[in-house]
Amino acid sequence: MRKLLYIHQDQLNLNCFPEELSSVDAVIMAESVADASILPFHKKKLVLEWSARRHFASELEKDGYDVILSQTEKTSAGFLREYLESHRDASIVIMEPAEWTPRMEMMKLADAFGERIRIIPNTFFLADAGSWTDTVRNGYRMEFFYREIRRQTGYLMDDGKPEGGEWNYDDRNRKSLPDDENVPESPSFTPDKITQEVMADVNRLFPDHFGSTEGFAYAVTRKDALQVFRNFLDVRLENFGPYQDAMADGEPFLFHSLISPYLNIGLLTAREVCEAAIEAYDASKKQKTDSGKKGGGSDGNDEGDDSKTLPLNSVEGFLRQIIGWREYIRIYYEAMMPDVREANHFSYGEELPDLYWSADTDMNCLSQATQSVLDHGYAHHIQRLMILSNFSNLTGSDPRRLLDWFWFAFVDAHEWVVLPNVLGMSTFADGGVLASKPYVAGGNYINKMSNHCKSCRYNVKARTGESACPFNYLYWNFVDREHDKLKQNPRIGFMIRTWDKKGEEEKQNIREQSEVFLAELKRYNS
Ligand code: FAD
Ligand code: SF4
Repeated sequence: MRKLLYIHQDQLNLNCFPEELSSVDAVIMAESVADASILPFHKKKLVLEWSARRHFASELEKDGYDVILSQTEKTSAGFLREYLESHRDASIVIMEPAEWTPRMEMMKLADAFGERIRIIPNTFFLADAGSWTDTVRNGYRMEFFYREIRRQTGYLMDDGKPEGGEWNYDDRNRKSLPDDENVPESPSFTPDKITQEVMADVNRLFPDHFGSTEGFAYAVTRKDALQVFRNFLDVRLENFGPYQDAMADGEPFLFHSLISPYLNIGLLTAREVCEAAIEAYDASKKQKTDSGKKGGGSDGNDEGDDSKTLPLNSVEGFLRQIIGWREYIRIYYEAMMPDVREANHFSYGEELPDLYWSADTDMNCLSQATQSVLDHGYAHHIQRLMILSNFSNLTGSDPRRLLDWFWFAFVDAHEWVVLPNVLGMSTFADGGVLASKPYVAGGNYINKMSNHCKSCRYNVKARTGESACPFNYLYWNFVDREHDKLKQNPRIGFMIRTWDKKGEEEKQNIREQSEVFLAELKRYNS
């Protein structure tokens, strides 16, 4: 029997497969047009994934592997079925795909082909999902999960206690960006011959998909993805923590790591990036101590030493995103699928506003975020949460439509990560299993964390009236609309009490202005 190893589209890293598999007769992969057509995925997302796969295949060939990479009109599972039917001497090892639908399809294949298919567990994550799913389904919060993973891995632990004495330094991580802060350029890569061919294929096969291939500059090999991460360690990590929640005109990337697209297709692994960040932190501490000793003698005076220790709040903040949020999100997905796909706590049914496709809006914060998604298939976390999702919640858009949009418009989106973030975190569609309150805010928050309001046609200080920032009245309109559901939530009691205390005239103005705005949005949509 000829033994093949199937590598799914998000598993492009042979180091994550058991060693025995390096002795397979061939590696098999599919370039599936059907998988790429389930939603109108951003053309840059498809270029990234297809080019990374073709590069990966060519590297495997250089290493002596026999590689089968075929383009197919079928789904990946359909392609494997066809292959098994026409190659009676073949058996295939499949690592469980992280996403539900292909995983179920692979299970069906295993049922149909018996011993010719062997399914092995997915090893691309750090935490053992099976031991956590019940706990997470019952509302166990990320913070406690994160502490447990810190204990298990020993990351940033000092004799059983968290490094620096605290688990969390978020109170140092909420700064807005000063005007004179220089933001480093983000790494970019000129498309090589393989990527150019993929760009042509994507344009030919998916002309109506979201965005454009033009300006494609993502890394498509492990070597280049490592370079993106190295750049983060060298020039961004120091400021990552403090400006994690900041937003600024014309600065879509700020000090973010930009590694999610690579982690999510396997070019980088969670373990290696966490360990490298801790190593960089330890090295910076050591360098500081050593130069202190050299320069200052026994009193440790470090006069003349301009080396800086990487701030713990940045390093811990980064680690929390990966071993905390990313791992937790994946377990939530395992725990809640497939029923959660229908979650819609507030029963919202509106279309997602047109501006999510065109970036055509006078609301500067929304224009900045949607333009970045169109251009790069990227917006950073706070834009995703407090601008894009916030506006969708306030306008009563169906969270499942928002989910689809996030899924096809972002280069790093895969169902296991985008669904929990949208239906669990940002829209509260699951009714509070993942998050303790809905993420909604008025213009005040956006103004505090960004410079967007300075050049916006709306006035962030005005609550109602022609020039008033729509986030302001829409926010209170949301509180009014969901009054009964929100009343039961202790974390937002303050919001309800503030609304209740407002005079009847103000309440009426808010309701009327919101109604006009929402009707106009609907008219524009149709
Ligand atoms: P950084 O800000 O540098 O963070 C470092 C890493 O932490 C990220 O690369 C990512 O791997 C991880 N991380 C941080 N927060 C989360 C989180 N909530 N869930 C999972 N991983 C996290 N992330 C995706 O990878 N794919 C998605 O499709 C996705 N959709 C999102 C949708 C919404 C509505 C929200 C609120 C968040 C979403 N996120 C998603 C999480 C987060 O916004 C992105 O991981 C992050 O913005 C990616 O940019 P970065 O690599 O520069 O991240
Ligand atoms: Fe956004 Fe309102 Fe600020 Fe304009 S004024 S940028 S709409 S928050």
